[in-house]
Amino acid sequence: RHILVCAGTGCSSAGSHALREELKKQVEKLGLGGKVKVFKTGCFGFCKLGPIAVVYPEGIFYCRVQKEDAADVVEGVASNRIVDRLLYRDPTTQKAVRHLKEIRFFQAQQRIALRNCGVINPEDINEYIARDGYQALAMALERRPEEIIAAVTASGLRGRGGAGFPTGRKWALMAAAPGQPKYVVCNADEGDPGAFMDRSILEGDPHSVLEGMAIAGYATGARQGYVYVRAEYPIAVDRLERAIRQARRAGLLGDNILGKGFSFDIEIRLGAGAFVCGEETALLRSIEGRRGEPRPRPPYPAQAGLWGKPTVINNVETLANVPVIIRRGPEWYASMGTVGSKGTKVFSLAGSINNTGLIEVPMGTTLRQIIFDIGGGIPGGKKFKAVQTGGPSGGCLPEEMLDTPVDYEALAEAGSIMGSGGLIVMDEGDCMVDIARFYLEFSQDESCGRCTPCRVGTKRLLEILKRITSGEGSMDDLQLLENLSRDVKEASLCGLGQTAPNPILSTLRYFRHEYEAHVRDKY
Ligand code: SF4
Repeated sequence: RHILVCAGTGCSSAGSHALREELKKQVEKLGLGGKVKVFKTGCFGFCKLGPIAVVYPEGIFYCRVQKEDAADVVEGVASNRIVDRLLYRDPTTQKAVRHLKEIRFFQAQQRIALRNCGVINPEDINEYIARDGYQALAMALERRPEEIIAAVTASGLRGRGGAGFPTGRKWALMAAAPGQPKYVVCNADEGDPGAFMDRSILEGDPHSVLEGMAIAGYATGARQGYVYVRAEYPIAVDRLERAIRQARRAGLLGDNILGKGFSFDIEIRLGAGAFVCGEETALLRSIEGRRGEPRPRPPYPAQAGLWGKPTVINNVETLANVPVIIRRGPEWYASMGTVGSKGTKVFSLAGSINNTGLIEVPMGTTLRQIIFDIGGGIPGGKKFKAVQTGGPSGGCLPEEMLDTPVDYEALAEAGSIMGSGGLIVMDEGDCMVDIARFYLEFSQDESCGRCTPCRVGTKRLLEILKRITSGEGSMDDLQLLENLSRDVKEASLCGLGQTAPNPILSTLRYFRHEYEAHVRDKY
């Protein structure tokens, strides 16, 4: 029997490390060393219920397990007894639910990028291999690079970091670009407030990202990869380092991989916490050891990236999808999702929502299904007010937009963006002008100051918002806010400035009455 204990950041901060140690002690105490093993695993996604432990092979799902519960859990495993008080209770029926797959939160999901999170020990390459890991790399090395690019193109995979650029097209541009050496960069500089999709994939399944990078390297002609990851993610960094060492030892990174004549290696570069370094040109400068500031494009990184050489940059979730696409075929992947947005998307649920955590759903799932069916609705019987998708660059959508499907174009049409997958819910108690101000404060603070529209424009926007929220605004301010927001969007150099006004514009579009009330009633 196996007891898997979540070792993601959420459960770790809730005490899962101490729980794991205590479980091991209890196993020894009862002399079960040969029969029961305790392992760490990645994020199950139901972060609100941490620490989480699952007993296999039965799949018994225990939640909010503390170190003091360890003796009961182990004794239960030994005597085939379920510890009822640690089971999840369905909020509607109050009935205890025994198995993970019977919980509604999991039932509506389709986990592809998260396929191994909560299933394997992320620190053991053998467990990844046992789940078909590195099989896609072996398959890719039997084919020509252009066939791999054609497969990724046919799958319809688009960049999961936010912009949604077709991954196959990006790889084709890089493959066609003259010049050597070429580089593959994994963008793991996840900086949106409330977003933790990339962190959970790196913590729960680092080899999926390494395998995706190696396949990208083979397809595009690169021999060296870099993972640019936030230093604030120590667990993710540690697991990546281990995974790279293990893959090198297993001959899956380094020279002459699997004896096929292809060489590819990966190094880690740590980010120092600047949000703008998630922008690809700033990220590249940061890897080069220079100040992380964006530069105008073209040339695009595929033509002139790291040290002026062709570079392909993909986000963590994008790369984690690649091995499955190669293994199961592009048609399988393209059979999920909508016409323009294929496959699945990982979201982190935060804010005023019952089931905070991490989910993965097919593209085309509606916001209503995500918030109410999977997310369990709003706590305390409060009314839903808005959902913000896409982090500080996204927009706030009201109740009448809840049937918007998760799809790059549909979200943009509604006034928001897919972004990297942060999803924050607000209830009737939230003031939407305060929310817009909060996000603008973040963007203004993170503006690198390189271009005037963003450096000065976000400052002026924030001043107007502060005026309005302190009861000193006027109706003219609303028009000024709108006009200046459009100017900052139009004229800023990089994505940070181009999207910083989105929370203002979307709240002006859907919640203008709240701005007017601030101005009129001076509250
Ligand atoms: Fe820097 Fe903002 Fe200009 Fe981007 S838009 S280059 S973050 S000042």
